[in-house]
Amino acid sequence: MAQKDFYDILGVSKSATADEIKRAYRKKAHEYHPDKGAGNEDKFKEASEAYQVLSNEEQRKQYDQYGQTFDQAQRNGQGFGGGAGGFGGGDPFAGFGFGGNNGGVEFDFGDIFGDMFGGSQRQARRSRGVDLEMPISVTFEESMFGVEKEITLEKKDTCARCKGNGAEEGTKIVTCTKCHGQGQINTQRRTIFGNINSAVTCDLCDGDGKIPETPCTECKGSGIKRQQKTLQVKIPAGIDNGQRIRINGEGEVGYKGSNHGDLYLLVRVTPSKDYIRDGHNLLKTIPISFSQAALGTKVMVETIDGKIELKIPAGTQSGKIFRVGGKGVQYVNSGKRGDLLVTVRVVVPSKLTKKESELLKDLSKLAGETTEVNKSFWEQIKDQF
Ligand SMILES: [Zn+2]
Ligand SMILES: [Zn+2]
Repeated sequence: MAQKDFYDILGVSKSATADEIKRAYRKKAHEYHPDKGAGNEDKFKEASEAYQVLSNEEQRKQYDQYGQTFDQAQRNGQGFGGGAGGFGGGDPFAGFGFGGNNGGVEFDFGDIFGDMFGGSQRQARRSRGVDLEMPISVTFEESMFGVEKEITLEKKDTCARCKGNGAEEGTKIVTCTKCHGQGQINTQRRTIFGNINSAVTCDLCDGDGKIPETPCTECKGSGIKRQQKTLQVKIPAGIDNGQRIRINGEGEVGYKGSNHGDLYLLVRVTPSKDYIRDGHNLLKTIPISFSQAALGTKVMVETIDGKIELKIPAGTQSGKIFRVGGKGVQYVNSGKRGDLLVTVRVVVPSKLTKKESELLKDLSKLAGETTEVNKSFWEQIKDQF
């Protein structure tokens, strides 16, 4: 499936209001619904996907800023994997906030604010690991054909020494000595309203009820260690500047065995000297001489796949654009490609040999040229400028 602009899919402008987007989606959904005789399941899915992102204020903002997010894990599957699901990662409030294991007795604001402001391991307990984002630079050529790159990042990851269980090798995990395996500690406070019972998470085992008998010397029993990791990542052909690639599970490790977050690569493409990218088309300009333009010629034009022959018909005006089909940018996740648009510029020589000068003077005389603008000639061609 070709990668398309979500706004184009719904047929609305980039500045469309939420209402306009909703109306456009309803219309498309109605038109393409697979249950209908003239339905089109692909188009229906496409419209739903576009609507899912554009109808969500936050996701729409992300989309406007970064474009689609491509999911490396699904790169060879159908379509792009990111888009709707790519943003935001896990629920930022999942897994923390309530102090107790069972009962949710105490709502612990310290946990929420701790995690919001960077928090400690204890405060991030049971939450999914943090998503990471890092920039990655590719050359224009690499962005055209795709590339595999090695990246190294530093992140909180599973401790290699204890494989994440926090115990020194050969030692056991034992029942927590402070909470006796309960994971929480019950306290009773005397207040003016009477006695209040509350349970707080055990700070020795972080609510697990178990602790390593001898804590791992590398991670001090947390099972987590800040360390470097080197990865091979695939940048798909056709990726554009500012797009993001999601690499599943390569973010930071979650607390004690909970899921890793994801890694997002923010792609920076170094511009090309020879081509300008315009969506999936490539633009370039080539110079031709006056006589080539007047008489017609064949010129060899460099494309990203090598040279091709371009036929310039007799009487070509400067600024004319020739379209070379299929020599543009590949759509990510599909074999389809855009076009190469070649603009010709007729170049006037700044120096002439004596012979050239004489020939041009003869030509000028032949055409009856004077110092006046040749109005009838200009009338014929002015629309082309
Ligand atoms: Zn360890
Ligand atoms: Zn405990």
